[in-house]
Amino acid sequence: MPQDKCKICGNILDKDEIAVYKRMVNRGATEYMCIKCFAIKFEVTEKAIKDKIEHFKKMGCTLFDT
Ligand SMILES: [Zn+2]
Repeated sequence: MPQDKCKICGNILDKDEIAVYKRMVNRGATEYMCIKCFAIKFEVTEKAIKDKIEHFKKMGCTLFDT
């Protein structure tokens, strides 16, 4: 399975970055953004996105592995 890369900067994405993108932007997405590009695009801090990841994990969101 090829590794997914950020559609903006080309960084290799980890599974949390993919999951949070699906959860917050588009569940059916096939291209994703890294946290850095996500933060710039949506004018939020990287920390806010990481907090969201933790939040969704705690909620037991099925997009995230726990
Ligand atoms: Zn990026």
